[in-house]
Amino acid sequence: MKNSSFSKAVPASKHLWDVVVIGAGPAGCLAARDLALRGATVLLVERKAIPRPKICGACLNHRGSHVLKTAGLESLLASPTVSSANLFHLQVGRCVCRLGVGNMHVAPRSWLDGELARFAEAAGANVVTETEARVAGVESILEDDHEHRSVEVLLKPSHGEVRSVRAGAAVVADGLGHPSLQGGHGWSEQVAPTSRVGMGATFSSDHRFYQEGTIYMGVGRHGYIGVVRLSDGRLNCAAAVDPSWLSSSGGLAGAADRLLIEARLPVPTELAQASW
Ligand SMILES: Cc1cc2nc3c(=O)[nH]c(=O)nc-3n(C[C@H](O)[C@H](O)[C@H](O)COP(=O)(O)OP(=O)(O)OC[C@H]3O[C@@H](n4cnc5c(N)ncnc54)[C@H](O)[C@@H]3O)c2cc1C
Repeated sequence: MKNSSFSKAVPASKHLWDVVVIGAGPAGCLAARDLALRGATVLLVERKAIPRPKICGACLNHRGSHVLKTAGLESLLASPTVSSANLFHLQVGRCVCRLGVGNMHVAPRSWLDGELARFAEAAGANVVTETEARVAGVESILEDDHEHRSVEVLLKPSHGEVRSVRAGAAVVADGLGHPSLQGGHGWSEQVAPTSRVGMGATFSSDHRFYQEGTIYMGVGRHGYIGVVRLSDGRLNCAAAVDPSWLSSSGGLAGAADRLLIEARLPVPTELAQASW
């Protein structure tokens, strides 16, 4: 899909949208695109610039690929940026399990999500980036014996003043913790303090062990780490680790190093210099 730069301009407050979608991850982009294709006026708000970095193992399982195909986005899977993986290499110390996984897809997440946002825009959704959204409340208006509900969403651009917009509905697709619902309106979500935290890095490495077409997963006592080679030759690493262990592991690269060693997977030398 052609490059497009998304708008940072927050729309006028008076406009009543059918739907405001908060968060331009796969959930938000696909929801915004689908709603726009069905004729709804859609505002998709993302707090970061697109493409944005995203911690992810970069693998699409068959269900994920099926969702894209069902949405008519099969062309994405044929992109040269997407490669395929047929083998899953699971390693826990001396135990190694190698499983055939059919034709799974491997794609850098920042690229995939950026493409999905462009498809949402091409379908007619208005995409606004670098703007944080927060659901302020729901209002009911009685008109001709009909109750109309509208959601007020506050938009805070990274540079500029807060503006309020209204919509018939809001789709909250803002990921873990649902930050856009925090604010004392009866919604709350808490992430358990002992939940594992995600960390990731993508870096150049020609380490021979890590071959394109295989998904490597190492498991240790304090977390797990996945490694795949992307179509451009770089390695994508993503891990989930215990937060208390992380703080005693000498930083993110140190934790990744220890996880790989414990799982008995090779440590690429470039891992230490990578931006985690
Ligand atoms: C270590 C790790 C490895 C993983 N590996 C894989 C994998 O290999 N394959 C896979 O399919 N899944 C993987 N996942 C899971 C995957 O990343 C998530 O399931 C997926 O990102 C969820 O998509 P989403 O659209 O719901 O949310 P997200 O992708 O998190 O998108 C939410 C968006 O909302 C934006 N946002 C947040 N708050 C606001 C706000 N107030 N206003 C505006 N925007 C906001 C965020 O910036 C973000 O862009 C992995 C996760 C982790 C932690």
